[in-house]
Amino acid sequence: MKRVYNFYAGPATLPLPILEKAANELTDFNGTGMSVMELSHRSKPYDAVHSEVISTMRELYKIPDNYKIVFLQGGASTQFFMVPMNLIGEGESADYILTGSWSQKALKEADILGKKTNVIATSKETNFDRIPKEFSVTKDASYVHITSNNTIFGTQFQSLPETNSIPLVIDASSDIFSYEINWKNVGMIYAGAQKNAGPSGIAIAIIREDLCKDKNTGIPTMLRYSTHIENNSLYNTPPTFSIYLINLNLQWLKSKGGISSIAKINENKAQMIYSVIDESNGFYKGHAQKDSRSLMNITFNLKTPELEEKFVKEATAKDFIGLKGHRSVGGIRASIYNAMPVEGCEKLASFMKEFMKNN
Ligand code: PMP
Repeated sequence: MKRVYNFYAGPATLPLPILEKAANELTDFNGTGMSVMELSHRSKPYDAVHSEVISTMRELYKIPDNYKIVFLQGGASTQFFMVPMNLIGEGESADYILTGSWSQKALKEADILGKKTNVIATSKETNFDRIPKEFSVTKDASYVHITSNNTIFGTQFQSLPETNSIPLVIDASSDIFSYEINWKNVGMIYAGAQKNAGPSGIAIAIIREDLCKDKNTGIPTMLRYSTHIENNSLYNTPPTFSIYLINLNLQWLKSKGGISSIAKINENKAQMIYSVIDESNGFYKGHAQKDSRSLMNITFNLKTPELEEKFVKEATAKDFIGLKGHRSVGGIRASIYNAMPVEGCEKLASFMKEFMKNN
């Protein structure tokens, strides 16, 4: 068997033990004589998985009792419109902080729906190299939407912003379960699963109870949060195999000591690579301002596109895969989510030093 160091931004690397467990159980799950994907979503053995994933998530992420957890389809992008559709009522508006392409896409969907939105801060003028610090929340806004980690630009909120009790709606697609959350101002967290939680296509949403009530009429049944909450994500046939994989991932996270423990590991991993950038005398140039750096996606450039191409080529030959940056930033992006082993970051850091010496 060959495994590489997978630095893709998402779908991204998953812990090897969960892939092995899923492989072992693929044709006979827990003595049922069938795969999880063949089990009825109304059966007892599936129900055990469904209950376990929800209770484990609540325990690990310390989700207070007044929040509901649901699994939704259509990735995080479907949340870009479900959020304004459900949470902005008649005559209301919502605030958006724009820190990259994903927040812009979220805003666009609210605009398409004809909802009133206020952009209260943006770092667009500096190509999203930072998290804006100055903003004031609109009084009576239904929510303040942020992208907690900007997968493409490699920036991350270092702490959740103060919103004067206006609920924060957080797209945490690329940093969910990577650090402990202070739930104080959180109205909702949503995330596509394919970076820190499991496979693509499924989204996790954690919603404060008071925001779950239907504000608007005319929303199709499947697009209402209340439908999924009232039916415990079993209104229709949920993506059972994906939910099972998220469960395995959370069990793995628990075995690693939980979220406070993985958060420390994540800091340590990111530091290994950032310190090579900082000590490179400009050979590597980080895209993110230091006070906005992401612990999940590290973005940097080399002096010329040719040198960047050489870097990617030599890295690939050493089985460091997926390092080419997104086209809007160029250069290199190393995505190092929870499941990236420490060793992967150590080896990448050594490779970077070696490459610098030789070039
Ligand atoms: N938000 C963020 C921060 C993302 O990184 C992504 C995907 N890379 C999305 C939203 C969109 O997710 P999906 O492809 O699941 O719709």
